[in-house]
Amino acid sequence: MNTASSPIVEYHPSLEFALELDRMDPLASFREEYHIPRTVDGEPFIYLTGNSLGLMPKRTRAAVEQELHDWAELGVEGHFEAKNPWYGYHEIFREPAARVVGANPGEVVVMNTLTTNLHLMMTSFYRPTPERYRILVEDGAFPSDQYAVGSQARFHGHDPADAIIPLRPRDGENTIRMDDIERLLVTRGNEIALVMLGGVNYYTGQAFDMERITAVARQQGCVVGYDLAHAAGNLRLRLHDWNVDFAVWCTYKYLNSGPGGVGGCFVHERHAFAPELPRFAGWWGNDPQSRFEMRPEFVPQHGAAGWQLSNAQILPMAAHKAALELFTEAGMDALRTKSELLTGYLEFLVDGASNGRFEILTPRNPAERGCQLSIRVGSDARRLSEQMKCEGAIVDFRHPDVIRVAPVPMYNTFQDAWRFARMIEKIV
Ligand SMILES: *Cc1c(COP(=O)(O)O)cnc(C)c1O
Repeated sequence: MNTASSPIVEYHPSLEFALELDRMDPLASFREEYHIPRTVDGEPFIYLTGNSLGLMPKRTRAAVEQELHDWAELGVEGHFEAKNPWYGYHEIFREPAARVVGANPGEVVVMNTLTTNLHLMMTSFYRPTPERYRILVEDGAFPSDQYAVGSQARFHGHDPADAIIPLRPRDGENTIRMDDIERLLVTRGNEIALVMLGGVNYYTGQAFDMERITAVARQQGCVVGYDLAHAAGNLRLRLHDWNVDFAVWCTYKYLNSGPGGVGGCFVHERHAFAPELPRFAGWWGNDPQSRFEMRPEFVPQHGAAGWQLSNAQILPMAAHKAALELFTEAGMDALRTKSELLTGYLEFLVDGASNGRFEILTPRNPAERGCQLSIRVGSDARRLSEQMKCEGAIVDFRHPDVIRVAPVPMYNTFQDAWRFARMIEKIV
């Protein structure tokens, strides 16, 4: 029989084995909490794109309707009289968002959107000097991150082609070796003002060793920030303990908070009160004690909340509130444990079903990935992803020859992985 070892379990290719894993899954009931899109035949899709847009929790509708109801009934009085008063709505997220990213409650704030927060953070934490002005980024980072970083460099009068150091895999390799990152930081760290990496690379699915990178980079005097778009709700994060300076994330991918949903932001406690840091300020970042005194001078409140600009975006925040409750109920540790098992299982099945025709770009080591597998399927990747959709699986095509699949521990099943592998087998 075709079997393989993983640190956790010996996998088998049979349907019975998939069903057994589902029966043993302590998180299995969470699938019931989500709407699963259906095919024209009424069958649930094998939804493998939770890394792009997470599914809608069933409780989200009631959470949003609560705010619509209070708006209808109370108008402006809802700021203080709504069931969840809007005035302090962002404070609801202190504990649950902090748990997801491994932070203290004062170190996180939910606001704006990801790219906006990235700019706000770089305004404060990219402080180039003539000797130290470079930014270390992944080569081929997500376009929005490239534009944000490049435009920040230009804003400070630097040519991005000079200021940006791209991290590349070695020739013939798909992912970046930690040793190469470390060597680069040790040899060129004194030129680098800011290390700005994705916690998980969106294309390859590689998860970086953020703890080690942060330690080495800070030893060299660099500031360290992460874009956690593909890491929040996916990996076990310990941003506080790792001493990360800042981080940003979106909430519509693994965090299931709806299209274009509100963003998240982490600022380490050591910067909680840092009047010397330049920042783009708005009234909601002001000390709440004096906010309505409408004074001309800005007095930032302590912690990440001091970077807020505007009053809380209640409707997307209501969706985020409902979605985060499920993360509190399931727990990131349990989710990650299932995720390693489920992704390892899908990897085992895809290897078997593709018969050597497909290459998995994502690292084989579970510690170096989240739940996404990026599979190089060849030049007809787009057609293949469309064919999969017709057959009942939603996957993500990435130019030119890759499909990305993310079995999400919150709502995907082992049977999903099994059925997807049968589809690959048939196509191959
Ligand atoms: C999804 C994603 C974005 C999207 O940015 P928005 O500001 O939310 O539109 C940016 N960067 C990365 C790495 C992403 O994965």
